Amino acid sequence: MDKKRRDFFKKTATVTAGAALMTASNAFANINRNRKVRLKLATSWPANFPIMGTGIERFAKRVKALSGGSIKIKVYPKNVLVPALSVFDACSAGNIDAFHSGPYYWKGKNEAFSLFSGFPFGMIATELNAWFDFGGGMDLWRELYAKYNLIPFKGGNTTTQMGGWFRKPIKTLNDLKGLKMRIPGLGGEVLAKLGVKPTLLPAGEIYVALERGTIDATEWVGPALDIKMGFQKVAKYYYTGWHEPGSILEITFNKKKFESLSKEQQLIIETAAEETNARMAAEFQAENSKALKNLPSDVKIMHWPKEIVDAAKKALLEVAKEKSKQSADFKRVWDSAYSYLKLTKPWTDTGLKSYLEIR
Ligand code: CA
Repeated sequence: MDKKRRDFFKKTATVTAGAALMTASNAFANINRNRKVRLKLATSWPANFPIMGTGIERFAKRVKALSGGSIKIKVYPKNVLVPALSVFDACSAGNIDAFHSGPYYWKGKNEAFSLFSGFPFGMIATELNAWFDFGGGMDLWRELYAKYNLIPFKGGNTTTQMGGWFRKPIKTLNDLKGLKMRIPGLGGEVLAKLGVKPTLLPAGEIYVALERGTIDATEWVGPALDIKMGFQKVAKYYYTGWHEPGSILEITFNKKKFESLSKEQQLIIETAAEETNARMAAEFQAENSKALKNLPSDVKIMHWPKEIVDAAKKALLEVAKEKSKQSADFKRVWDSAYSYLKLTKPWTDTGLKSYLEIR
């Protein structure tokens, strides 16, 4: 055999061996990719709850379709497998594999967690997404949840929430003194500084409390979900919002379980969660638009007096300062989120706000 021929055979042999190896590794990757996993996901919402409940059902269907059926997620509405507000602990312990809820529910675990939902006078949905993906927000969220063996994904956004339903108009700061309002989270703590008595009530009890005057006001979400609660029948003053400018929801997985999935399966879940995040915000926009149009004519849309807005902004900074002293995690997340607000707001004002004022 001359040298040329010898080289040719040598090369071919190498290529063939290489090809065989490639085939073997592809086959292995396929086996790995197609390894069937069955995951249990619990939510904090009732079955078929509009937008949030239906949205997470769709997420499960998308994951199944995108993975060619290798990942099947069974969605359990609240209180079926675990109580609505126990999903965090259940997932952390590995009793369920994932959950769909909102990070502000877990402030009892860590004050900083409420900030991952956004904060009063803070970022709107598009700004929050920018902070999470390009401003360090997601890294902080993942780092702090990792301590609980959890890995979070953005899983929807309610978009800007309404300030709530009031039985009487609020004209001055005095009107807030002693006012009993159902409002959770940082918004409630800000209003408490202004004399409001924030209360927490289970969803099923809010309407009756408002009707009977046990509470004077309640916030919920926005027109689409609010009118399903019937608040428009018992409180006629519907205030625009500042306490939840764009609340992020979460699709969170048990970290160990998530890491046991193939890289492809992890990417499929991440991609479907990202899609769910965008689509849920779009659905809130669509449904709120219709619901606002259909509000009864005796409902008055109200705007907050400047005196109250200014006082609430001041109170927010006091609350943040107090919490930053108590919790190093809160301080880190607050500093990151608040400085991102300062960075992004001028662009939103120059680009979006200017346009909204002239269209
Ligand atoms: Ca709310």
